This record gives sequence, structure tokens and C-alpha cells, in this order.
Amino acid sequence: MLITAGPTYEAIDSVRYIANRSSGRMGIELAAAARDAGWDVTLLLGPATLSPPEGCRVLRFESTADLDRLLSENFESCDTLVMAAAVADYRPAAASAGKLPRGGKLVLELVATPDLVAACARRRRPGQRVIGFALESPELLASRAAEKLARKGLDAIVANPLESMGAGTIAPWILLPDGRRIEPAGPGGGAMSKSGFAAWLIGWLGGGRGPG
Ligand code: C5P
Repeated sequence: MLITAGPTYEAIDSVRYIANRSSGRMGIELAAAARDAGWDVTLLLGPATLSPPEGCRVLRFESTADLDRLLSENFESCDTLVMAAAVADYRPAAASAGKLPRGGKLVLELVATPDLVAACARRRRPGQRVIGFALESPELLASRAAEKLARKGLDAIVANPLESMGAGTIAPWILLPDGRRIEPAGPGGGAMSKSGFAAWLIGWLGGGRGPG
């Protein structure tokens, strides 16, 4: 199982970067749960401060471009990709060499990053599964999760309310391409620990009830 976790850092200059509040906890818990379930796990881990779990192969990335490279090298040999990393949607068009001086107004030009999970989904072979995450404010979560699942061509998407970023808990549900909605905490949803959800998701993926 190939799992990605954590934020990306997109360089502004040699010192500064653009990032997000992802702690990497969800992906790290998923890696530990997959390992406990007997999977051979590769964890692609961003610049998070949490330690990776023992017993997994861990490869580190910093930028979206680094993660893109690691996915090119590791996607083909996995059975399932769980893309929990909070990949930047934009990066500075060019990183300045050295340190930009302070003073005056600074305008950054940003360019869109490639959609990494969509590219993996496009090149997957039969039987290979690609699972994504959608982090959105609660009122937009259902519509945006459905739109992302379709646009990225995923086998399943974990809909994840905004408040879970950086937190220890998550109130997730899963949307499948046939429109089915699966609620791990039972009807009406609810918050669970990220470790509890990780164990549930790995069981669901391995228990024959998962997609694909
Ligand atoms: O498009 P958005 O960032 O909301 O989608 C979230 C899902 O897409 C996550 O699974 C994330 O890892 C993935 N993603 C990606 N490449 C990007 C942006 C997001 O693979 N450039």
C-alpha cells in the first residue's frame, strides 16, 4: 500500500515557502494501521513534525514536484494508493535564489500544480485502487467531494470537514462512484479519532467491501 501524508512546501526563495496546516497525522495513522493489518507499506511523508511509524518504508518529500517524482517511482508497484497528503494547489511561478529583501510591496505570481492523484488514477492498471481525500467546509463538502471524485477519476473519496486539518479527530464519510455514501461512525456521522478511522478504513479496503 502506498500512502502519502503531510503538507507540501512550495519555495518562494531559499528561505521562505508557502504551506498549509496539515500535520500528516491522518496518513501516518493510516500507514501504522496498514502495517498492523499485514500490508507492505510505503509512506511518502511531507515536512510534518510527527514521527513516521516503525516498520514502514518512509520516503520524504518537500514540494509537490518532489512528491510527483516519488509517485512516478512508487505508484506502479502498489496495489492501493491512499492520497492523504495536503498537496498545494498553487506554487510560486519561480523561486528566487537567495533571500528576497524586505521592504515595499511584494507580489507573488502563483501557478497551478499538476493534480497528482488524478494523474495516478488515469494511469492505474486493472485492480489497482486510488483513494483521495476532500477537505472542505461542511456546507460545501457533499457537492465538492462528489465533483472531485468524478473529476479525478478516483475509486473512493474520503469527505473530510475542514476542522479535521491538524486535529486528532475526523468526522469522515466515504463517497463511491456509484453514489453510495458510507459512514464509519454510523448514520448521522460523528467525530472519531484519526487512529480509529485509520483502522476502519484499512479494514474496509482489505475486507472485500472496498472499491474495485
Ligand atoms: O483538489 P483538492 O486539493 O481539493 O483535492 C484533494 C485530493 O487531491 C487529495 O487526495 C490530495 O492529495 C489530492 N491532490 C493532488 N494534487 C494536487 C492537489 C490535490 O493529488 N495538486
